[in-house]
Amino acid sequence: MPDDLAELLHELKHELILATRILANQNVLDAFGHVSVRHPRDPKRYFIPRHRAPELAEIADIVELDLDSEPVRPTQFRLYSERVIHGEIYKARPDINAVCHHHSHAVLPFCISGRELVPVFHLGAVIGHVPFWDQREEFDDTNMLVVSPEEGASLARALGANAMVLMRRHGATVVGTNVRELTFCTVFSCDNAALQSPAMVHGHVDRLSPGEIERAAAHSARPPSTNRAWDYWVRHVEKGRLDAGAHRVKAEDREKEQDAETALAASLRELLTDSEICVIHGAARQSNKRTLSVLPRRRLKTTRTAVADH
Ligand SMILES: [Zn+2]
Repeated sequence: MPDDLAELLHELKHELILATRILANQNVLDAFGHVSVRHPRDPKRYFIPRHRAPELAEIADIVELDLDSEPVRPTQFRLYSERVIHGEIYKARPDINAVCHHHSHAVLPFCISGRELVPVFHLGAVIGHVPFWDQREEFDDTNMLVVSPEEGASLARALGANAMVLMRRHGATVVGTNVRELTFCTVFSCDNAALQSPAMVHGHVDRLSPGEIERAAAHSARPPSTNRAWDYWVRHVEKGRLDAGAHRVKAEDREKEQDAETALAASLRELLTDSEICVIHGAARQSNKRTLSVLPRRRLKTTRTAVADH
């Protein structure tokens, strides 16, 4: 694999993991829901984390699937049962490069009531027209999950050329031309729903006009808007230590801790005799103290012997 492609894929996977954590931090995803991104060089493949709560997903959890949602390489990982949502939408929408499926409580009242979700403020314009998909109409009684290619294809047909589709009694699926645009649309579609629900209680809902929707959506889709929002959400993720680099920070901490333990062991070797170290080692084992447990009796004795030999 050329270095530039390897670097590109790493950046893309890092962005995918950040998106999952942003959406978890924004209460869009919880234990369930998932985000995927299309392969930048092979449109017949896409990346998605393994079966895991999105907030916990890391780069190492990402698998590469074909558009039939089968792994490109054999994997021991359990995969999301609803991954066909992603594969079938990528088949139907060559213009789309990122997909999110979620069960946000902001949109569920619309999925349950069947009330139309409409743009009610300028940032909500990105949702445009939001169609419904009712799995029951075509597939009768199911377990409510979208698990067969036929169900995924049916959902993709209902989505049509739109940015999101509401799934009756289930949740929503949102699409974007890239991960940041997808994240923007997903967050603000939930914000729009969260605002529209109480507005309906107040009475008349004053939706944006078609011209306002077109102009405001085009403005929001520009990189200056999506990047500004992305940076803001990443900052919140970092503050909550939910960023994708968190595990690397922990690894650095572990390294520092190990360095300190090694230094302590070295200084003890200088100060104590073999028999004294053996006493400490025995006491450490009894008290289960981690710092002193770095003094393996056999290794220390070997080290002292080697030093004495020189
Ligand atoms: Zn679902």
